[in-house]
Amino acid sequence: MATVAFIGLGNMGRPMAANLVKAGHDVAGFDLVPEAVAAHVAAGGRAVASAEEALREADFVISMLPAGRHVRELYAGLIAALAGKTPLLIDSSTIDVQTAREVSATAQAAGLEMLDAPVSGGVGGAAAGTLTFMVGGAAAAFARGQPILQQMGRNIVHAGAAGAGQAAKICNNMILGISMIGVCEAFVLADRLGLDRQKLFEVSATSSGQCWSVTSYCPVPGPVPASPANRDYAAGFATGLMLKDLSLAQEAAAATGASTPLGAHAARLYAAMAEAGLSASDFSVAFRWLSSGARERLVPEAEAT
Ligand code: NAD
Repeated sequence: MATVAFIGLGNMGRPMAANLVKAGHDVAGFDLVPEAVAAHVAAGGRAVASAEEALREADFVISMLPAGRHVRELYAGLIAALAGKTPLLIDSSTIDVQTAREVSATAQAAGLEMLDAPVSGGVGGAAAGTLTFMVGGAAAAFARGQPILQQMGRNIVHAGAAGAGQAAKICNNMILGISMIGVCEAFVLADRLGLDRQKLFEVSATSSGQCWSVTSYCPVPGPVPASPANRDYAAGFATGLMLKDLSLAQEAAAATGASTPLGAHAARLYAAMAEAGLSASDFSVAFRWLSSGARERLVPEAEAT
């Protein structure tokens, strides 16, 4: 049994921490929102009054926070408070690569090992303990963290040095964000052409258009019963989170000079969806949004002629 300080008990952190409790660990949980801590206690966890208090005797510190600035602030305080103790630090939030590298370097300078370990799999994967962890950090730190990550996830991938976990996450989600738009556009066009949706599904699921956005997450109701399209696009993976990840990818592209024109365009489309009030809906709601006849607003004039 290990002692774990778990910071950030929101939609993802709460079920992840609950799986560690189920696996028999002593999980000291902290969140700024008292209701989140109360839910952690109801799941068998231990409440603490501050992140610093959670650190006491911790073998692992795991954080699951909204964005880079929260991670930066948290670890600036924690690293200063650790004074001689050497728990493994694991940040599973999705943040920018630069912040992940900088926080890891600060930890290393203080004699601490740190992993960036963002996840894929959403709230469902967090609850089921089937998340994919994309992990950046030294090999020895990865070996130390792998057993605890396995109790929250199914696939634990060592992506490379510090920041590589975040890099893998934003590259993967850029593929997903773009491919989902492509699949939605194909179904919109099929509708206009009078092509049966099920027929397009049968063809594209078994031919060269095949991808996860078709086979596992089809954005039209019917072909894939478990997809959010069958429950009025309740997330799932929210449009706002897809926009966040694509924005991180665009920041990284700008910083490195990578050419990602479709990633940039996809980010603009999800931003327009968010502005249209769809931020909390699943990102596959792009199908319904595109179907609503938004072409004039979306296609630059030169292309529309
Ligand atoms: P959330 O907003 O539900 O939870 C974040 C929690 O962090 C909140 O409860 C908030 O009160 C807490 N918090 C913020 N600052 C804090 C601090 N200084 N100390 C303690 N607690 C603090 O977000 P979420 O959906 O759980 O997502 C968490 C991270 O996981 C994000 O980076 C997100 O991009 C990523 N992610 C989310 C999903 C998803 O489907 N929700 C999927 C993959 C990755």
